[in-house]
Amino acid sequence: MAEPRRNTADGRQDTQRDARTASRPEARPVVPQDAARLWADLVETARRSVTDGLVVGTSGNVSARTGDLVLVTPSGVPYDRLTPADITGVDLTGRQVLGTLVPTSELPMHLAVYRTTDARAVVHTHAVHATAVSVLVPELPLVHYMAAALGGPVRVAPYAAYGTDELAEHMLRALAGRSGCLLQNHGTITYGATLGQAYDRTAQLEWMCRLWLTASSVPGLTPSLLTEAQLAEVGERLKGYGQRR
Ligand code: 13P
Ligand code: ZN
Repeated sequence: MAEPRRNTADGRQDTQRDARTASRPEARPVVPQDAARLWADLVETARRSVTDGLVVGTSGNVSARTGDLVLVTPSGVPYDRLTPADITGVDLTGRQVLGTLVPTSELPMHLAVYRTTDARAVVHTHAVHATAVSVLVPELPLVHYMAAALGGPVRVAPYAAYGTDELAEHMLRALAGRSGCLLQNHGTITYGATLGQAYDRTAQLEWMCRLWLTASSVPGLTPSLLTEAQLAEVGERLKGYGQRR
């Protein structure tokens, strides 16, 4: 399959690029250094979601915020094709301020998170066990204390079509007091203070969903569940978890 072409700022033809920008020399914006570094981190995180099996093809998207700039993965572009020149950024209203590739179709969800929380990164996937749970229950049963790391029992946002404001509204309600939720018949969304934290929350959520599906599929047995009080206790303990600095 022939690669789409577009011209670079210096007039060379670049066979890796998309045809939409072929006649647009402004395709190479001057990118602030911190945004360029954040873009590199974002692309690395997006690629990790594929190698870890949380994302197949171009399902899912990743974003990260610096100041009022939100870097996002472009829509429908495989992560292994992304280069520094593909940096894609919008402001908090969704207006494109960096790059020429079309931003992710899930801008409404990503921007809703940034407008209403202190998130610096958002990860959305169609991870298989999490998506399976999203079609079975309105809330992930409390099978493991790691739910506390997401702020409590993980809710499922009712279905709405991908990319819509309606989906973003459902997601915001499901996220109240949480740093992650499931999207019915769709997937996961988590946020964090860093790309690494947002990513780890997705990985933990997928793992917990897999755990519940595994435990609840043993014939004749029902998994024991934690109480909200037991979860709250862990929420306090987790504040002191890990190495002291
Ligand atoms: P994008 O390729 O537009 O980011 O869409 C993928 C997706 O997961 C939509 O829900
Ligand atoms: Zn999706």
